[in-house]
Amino acid sequence: MSAPAPVSVQPVSVQKYGGTSVGSTERLQHVAGRIAARAAGGDRIVAVVSAMGKTTDSLVALAGEITATPAGREYDMLLASGEIVSAALLAMAIEEHDVPAIALTGQQAGVFTDDTHTRARITRIETDRILTELGRGQVVIIAGFQGITPGSDFTTLGRGGSDTSAVALAAALHAVRAEIYTDVDGVYTTDPRIEPRARRLHDIAYEEMLELASQGAGVMHPRAVELGLLYDLPILVASSFREDVPGTLIRKQVQMEPSNRVRGIALDRDVALITIRAVPDRPGIASQVFGPLAEAGINVDTIVQNASAERLTDMTFSVAHDQAAAAHALCRDGADDLGASDVILDEHAAKVSIVGTGMQSGVGYAAKMFRALAEAAINIELISTSEIRITAIVHEDDGQAAAQVLHAAFELDEPVLAGEAAPG
Ligand code: ADP
Ligand code: ASP
Ligand code: MG
Repeated sequence: MSAPAPVSVQPVSVQKYGGTSVGSTERLQHVAGRIAARAAGGDRIVAVVSAMGKTTDSLVALAGEITATPAGREYDMLLASGEIVSAALLAMAIEEHDVPAIALTGQQAGVFTDDTHTRARITRIETDRILTELGRGQVVIIAGFQGITPGSDFTTLGRGGSDTSAVALAAALHAVRAEIYTDVDGVYTTDPRIEPRARRLHDIAYEEMLELASQGAGVMHPRAVELGLLYDLPILVASSFREDVPGTLIRKQVQMEPSNRVRGIALDRDVALITIRAVPDRPGIASQVFGPLAEAGINVDTIVQNASAERLTDMTFSVAHDQAAAAHALCRDGADDLGASDVILDEHAAKVSIVGTGMQSGVGYAAKMFRALAEAAINIELISTSEIRITAIVHEDDGQAAAQVLHAAFELDEPVLAGEAAPG
């Protein structure tokens, strides 16, 4: 049994530092300096870290040199090592400031997940150890992106999952918000690497951020935003390099004026399309197609069934590139049973989405979007919508231009609020 949790005197500040922010020992030392200064000022700090720089990519590549089909358990053990390195180094760097710090793995921090290797979900967090260490006056550094199954095997939460570790820990520790420090100084109207005229948003609603993140805005892991929404826990996204910029607050209520327009544009280049040709148009077909895909753990995104001619229909759906070959093979295997004529894989697609809660009440967004794309001679291959999002799938070569054209068409480069600035 661990020691009983000390009575908390002051809220815990939960911060997360991403891969670029801890990408070298110099950067780790910079982060350590920031944390040590706040700890010396009396803050109780839990810092979640990502692996250094592109470490996770390198680990993925190493596994790929050995096998195309690694066992999930060992793959997760390998990937989890990246965050353990940065957590240990950051704790050492903080100690150099004479501030006591301790590094914890996901397991030591009590982060339990289900056993879905490579994309596990956090099931509960036992905070006793964290609270004990905080009670001893330590800064607690936690390896993000990882957890532990009930059987004590490593799991990882899906690429970009350290954000989710941080938000889940912030909720478990009753922090007033989660602070995500990254290499950009907030959430922009679109990825500033895609459109230099993108503006930083002062704030954005959970639902809007969730749609943007799910549709490819890599600045936040979608599951992290989902947890923010679930617990109504605001998430601050800010720079780990510039303390003078206020960042963006992801929260429930956003200011009225900007809520009435398109808030952001997401571009996802990780899109492959699978089309099953000439499927008989009869009940049960969709479940016959998507049942086996779900069983194989394939995450199907946009689905479109074309109008049927002579009781035959084409069914197209999108998947991420790393699941495209498996999805294609499964559909081809099932094509005969379905009575389909052919299964086609197109790995050269991109998804561009406009998002804003204003779409629930406003009209004309779709017409404006399609007109802008048509005027730029960009062909739309598929369309899908939610209440607050319209997505067009285009050829990958048109993806960036589509995002830029829509950014201009919806006047996202125009500031609507003081504090929403272009990159400076
Ligand atoms: P970290 O390693 O800190 O988790 P990520 O690379 O995962 O950082 O996320 C930050 C990156 O997200 C930025 O460098 C930027 O290119 C990208 N990005 C995508 N969409 C947006 C957006 N709407 N606003 C800000 N950044 C975005
Ligand atoms: N290191 C992991 C990744 O690169 C998790 C993260 O950075 O959030 O995906
Ligand atoms: Mg990230």
